[in-house]
Amino acid sequence: MPKTTPKPNKTVAVISLGCPKNTVDSEVMLGKLAQDNYALVKDPSEAEVIIVNTCGFIEASKKESIDTILAAAKYRKSGNLKSLVVGGCLAHRYGDELRKELPEIDILFGLNDVENVVNQISPPRLQDSKGKQGGESLIDHLNRKQNNAPLLPNSLSEATYVYDASSPRLLSTPGHFAYVKISEGCDLPCTFCIIPKIRGHHRSRSLEDIEQEAKQLAAQGVKELCLVAQDSTWYGSDRYGKPRIAELLSRLAKVKDIEWIRLHYLYPSRVTDEMLDVMAANPNICPYFDVPLQHASNKILKSMQRIGDRALLEKLIQRIRAKIPNASIRSTFIVGFPGETDEDFQELIEFLKSSKMDYVGFFSYSQEENTPAGVMENQVPEKVKQARLAEAYKVQEEVAAQSHQRWVGQKLMAVVETIEENGEVQGRTKYQAPEVDGVVLIEGLKNARPGQWAEVEITHGLEQDLVGKAILNS
Ligand code: SF4
Repeated sequence: MPKTTPKPNKTVAVISLGCPKNTVDSEVMLGKLAQDNYALVKDPSEAEVIIVNTCGFIEASKKESIDTILAAAKYRKSGNLKSLVVGGCLAHRYGDELRKELPEIDILFGLNDVENVVNQISPPRLQDSKGKQGGESLIDHLNRKQNNAPLLPNSLSEATYVYDASSPRLLSTPGHFAYVKISEGCDLPCTFCIIPKIRGHHRSRSLEDIEQEAKQLAAQGVKELCLVAQDSTWYGSDRYGKPRIAELLSRLAKVKDIEWIRLHYLYPSRVTDEMLDVMAANPNICPYFDVPLQHASNKILKSMQRIGDRALLEKLIQRIRAKIPNASIRSTFIVGFPGETDEDFQELIEFLKSSKMDYVGFFSYSQEENTPAGVMENQVPEKVKQARLAEAYKVQEEVAAQSHQRWVGQKLMAVVETIEENGEVQGRTKYQAPEVDGVVLIEGLKNARPGQWAEVEITHGLEQDLVGKAILNS
């Protein structure tokens, strides 16, 4: 009897918004759907089911999520859409409101249901009195009960889920790099931040589990692991009683065929010398520090309830550069935090000029309900926020352009990311993270292809990007 391949289930498109931690959740959903024989499509207009994995931590990301949901709903007419499914942080934070405000949504689910996604889109049948499947679907049952988008049980309870190496996962990033979520949630009290209330308490995966996943990814041809969390420096503290990030790094550095290990989301006061030593000692751990500092005025740092003052931040940058002289430093800052005066803002500008960081992102403060800063007095007018945002970016561009001159004449390994339509070859060095930092524009690389490694001699340092000519095709 010839084995027949089961007819694929529905066609599904997953739209992933927000941060790399959400990207990992989306990839677990994709893995689960593929495992259950759903036909995955990239173009939402072809999909019978569209899953929007939302972001919901600040105004701008909430707006982007709602715009994306409404745009997806249009495919009910112009596309193939039968069911619009919404998950992720916005759904976890505003489940009830979304249900009422957006009737376009068919199904909502929260952060604890990432691996349960298949049940979301093809709901289990209710048992009839004899315990046999049949009868009404759970969705119809809930719909009948509530007359609007059902919210599956435990979807909105405190987020406790974190995937592991046994979770099915389909990478959505180019095959040569992958994000690895080492922990989820956060216990810190930053007064502007709603993430702990959405993503729950800090919870780490085990060392063995992460190592296992790293080996699995290496076996798939992944060469670069980007380690992500809300606070990577606190990795292991919940599970082992003390942070074990240094040990995790040295273990991952031994995983065969992994060329680059990149650490993201470091909490400034928690960067230990032990970590710096492991990073300095292992050439495949990128000399790259993604340290969100948020501000540089002691008054504002205190009001943000950030651990550490300006002196600590300056000392941290000195410590990093003392151990790893050419380290690349990325950071993010908030401008327009309640109570921020021109003097406070000028302190931030001076800090940018003196600390010469490579890549910096700026957010204008977003007044979030359910956060201590959201009810603070002296909220800064929007016009002032936007003016400070523009000035901060302008100053940082000049600082970065200066700082990137240090690469001119250096020979660096680069991985090819994309070949643009105009033939331009864009790559990254180990000093540049995917998706957030600048690229290296590679000249003279024949038959370039994504994932290819090439040695490049840097000829120009720009405020965002580098330019270099290919030396050796590998
Ligand atoms: S460290 Fe602070 S800003 Fe970052 S997720 Fe935790 S509470 Fe939010």
